[in-house]
Amino acid sequence: MLDEDKPARPVVMPWDYVRMRRKAAGVTIAQAAAHYWKRPEHQADVERNIAELERVGYRMQQHFFSADMSRAYSFNVDVYRQLCDTPPDQHPRICLACGWDQWTTQYDTNGDDVTWSKADSDVCTRCEQLERSKEIG
Ligand SMILES: [Zn+2]
Repeated sequence: MLDEDKPARPVVMPWDYVRMRRKAAGVTIAQAAAHYWKRPEHQADVERNIAELERVGYRMQQHFFSADMSRAYSFNVDVYRQLCDTPPDQHPRICLACGWDQWTTQYDTNGDDVTWSKADSDVCTRCEQLERSKEIG
């Protein structure tokens, strides 16, 4: 193997991706769920289904209700499906801190388009900036 000395890139599983995207948006499960129910008697069901998406080992079946969280926060359904359906070596590259993928528009703390960090290829420029501001602050 050519990359023998390099530690393996951590594998992001579907439930990790859902949680990372929600955390990056700074919303709770209840806040995310509020985009998906209208009648109060549906609230508990919707919150349970959305929490289920983040349960370790859980993969949404394609024929079941769509795991599209994009009404609540930035979420790429295609990325989610690939994390569910393909082996880790075929997973799309996503930011290991926030779950951003290069097909999704996201802005950094300066309002510029996010791209891959040059210093750490595992994260996006927004997470790099947030990490740096934590170190300074
Ligand atoms: Zn990121």
